[in-house]
Amino acid sequence: MSDIRDATPYDTVFRPDHKSMTLAVDIKEMYKFYEEEGELESVPAIFKWEDGSLIPQVLLPGVYEVCNVCQGKGTVVDPRMDRNGLGEEQLNDPDFMDGYWSGRFDIPCRECKGRRVVMRVDVSNDPTGSLKVYLDHIHKELNERAEEAAESARIQRMESGGY
Ligand SMILES: [Zn+2]
Repeated sequence: MSDIRDATPYDTVFRPDHKSMTLAVDIKEMYKFYEEEGELESVPAIFKWEDGSLIPQVLLPGVYEVCNVCQGKGTVVDPRMDRNGLGEEQLNDPDFMDGYWSGRFDIPCRECKGRRVVMRVDVSNDPTGSLKVYLDHIHKELNERAEEAAESARIQRMESGGY
């Protein structure tokens, strides 16, 4: 499954809600855009209080995927133990190696917090249409940025005497 995070132009934070199987995304910028366009009714926004102000958010459909950091184990070997590989002394110590393989040095996986799975945006499931609105907006934004970049490159060429 393709990850929606590859398609987003900003460092978007997706906040998973495991009860409703949705991911909340802060859409302050997007909300402002639609407000200026007078098309707010097309934004499926919800509002959450955060630090004393109402933040518009959109809820995207979520799906669980096996965590690719711990491969679904829920734990990883404490990186302090083997970040730089294991030394000869450790490799030749059967008791240490026993412990190593049996999980004595394991800590909960930071990516999935021991859940074994992580929630990703389910791009194949969009019951409320919120994902489509969100993605349309992102595509628009990406196109605008590409046009702006092309335009400033053109101006730069002209200024440097080229064509
Ligand atoms: Zn994990």
